[in-house]
Amino acid sequence: MKRIIIIGAGASGLFCAIKCKELIHNVDVIVLEANKQPLKKLLATGNGRCNLSNKSLSFDQYNGEITKSIQDIISQFDDQKEFLAEGLLTKWMGNLLYPASEQAKSVAEVLLDRAHYLGLSILTEQTVISVKPNSQGYKVICEHANYEADFVIMAMGSQAGLLSTENNRQKIIGDLLPMVPFKESLTQMYTSPVLKSLKGVRVKADVQLMDGDELLSCEKGELLFTDYGVSGICVMQLSRFYKPGCHLEIDMMPTFTEEELAAIVNASPLTHPLTGLVNTKIEQYLSKNKDPLKTLKNLKLSVTGLRDYKTSQVMQGGVVVRALTENLESKRHAGLFVIGELLNVTGNCGGYNLHFAFASAKHVACAIEGIINA
Ligand SMILES: Cc1cc2nc3c(=O)[nH]c(=O)nc-3n(C[C@H](O)[C@H](O)[C@H](O)COP(=O)(O)OP(=O)(O)OC[C@H]3O[C@@H](n4cnc5c(N)ncnc54)[C@H](O)[C@@H]3O)c2cc1C
Repeated sequence: MKRIIIIGAGASGLFCAIKCKELIHNVDVIVLEANKQPLKKLLATGNGRCNLSNKSLSFDQYNGEITKSIQDIISQFDDQKEFLAEGLLTKWMGNLLYPASEQAKSVAEVLLDRAHYLGLSILTEQTVISVKPNSQGYKVICEHANYEADFVIMAMGSQAGLLSTENNRQKIIGDLLPMVPFKESLTQMYTSPVLKSLKGVRVKADVQLMDGDELLSCEKGELLFTDYGVSGICVMQLSRFYKPGCHLEIDMMPTFTEEELAAIVNASPLTHPLTGLVNTKIEQYLSKNKDPLKTLKNLKLSVTGLRDYKTSQVMQGGVVVRALTENLESKRHAGLFVIGELLNVTGNCGGYNLHFAFASAKHVACAIEGIINA
């Protein structure tokens, strides 16, 4: 009987294991997980609700190496159909796909229930230290045990979110596969000045990330002032384009032009007209400002850095896609596959990363089925 070892029981690893068991008869699938429990990161996704995918799966929502085969993997996977087949009902909330229960916990429970039913071995507190190709296939070496395998699937994700006890990915990959070094993405920004008086204030803003006069990227959405700088979905999206020395230009009232606001202020019967227009903390901040309306429409903050991996949702970088076949199998080492966030494919906020984790997992399970049944 052929044996498949999957390293990592996160979203991609566990889904891939389930698909391997469903698709391939008479196969031994073992999942090795460093944490005490599987799916720890999945439970934290979407603020505990698990944003599984997005209606608009356009490729510009991803960065890294979005090759033709990665595009096919992204566009061919139908999350709703796949999850329904596993017993999980999903629903759209705007463009975002969530479990019908709106609980990440139910996604985890469904996957674990399926894994149990299919007789998968999920071995927790099994930190893989290295993977060595040999004449039979691979030797997977853990701290306290070794395993022989015909196929190895690396699904170790990234250190983003500090939800994995292990961070030895680069060491395991070693010289088996080339890797683009990981760097933080989808994270908050440190700013100068830090507007501490606005801490906790949320504004629906138009935000531009600028490098001098050059626009790096722009986003619309909720921005949150914090005691270190700024946060919020739009800030996290912009963090992908961070360059040292860049700055933010924030329009805190995008639905009005400066002229329209001036007309509203001039016609106001109030002593402090901005009180009737904006959050009281913003009003207090602007009242000390020489040109409050200009600042309201174009608040400039230097970005002094990004917060680290502990607060990032994903890491950019990972295993070089071009070192793999279109089946995500190493070109140099037959039988060695890579899936999920460990690949140099990173999505935006909005379900893109989980979509890719599940889609790449199914793709590899189908590829291995093809090899075994050839
Ligand atoms: C707070 C937060 C919220 C997020 N929300 C969303 C969201 O709503 N929607 C979305 O699309 N994406 C979201 N993401 C991103 C998404 O969770 C990840 O991209 C996705 O989980 C990646 O899945 P993965 O299986 O590739 O990796 P992971 O989920 O990181 O799983 C990898 C597993 O491998 C294990 N492992 C690592 N090294 C070893 C080793 N040496 N030996 C054994 N096991 C090892 C880890 O412990 C881990 O369990 C969020 C991320 C965070 C941090």
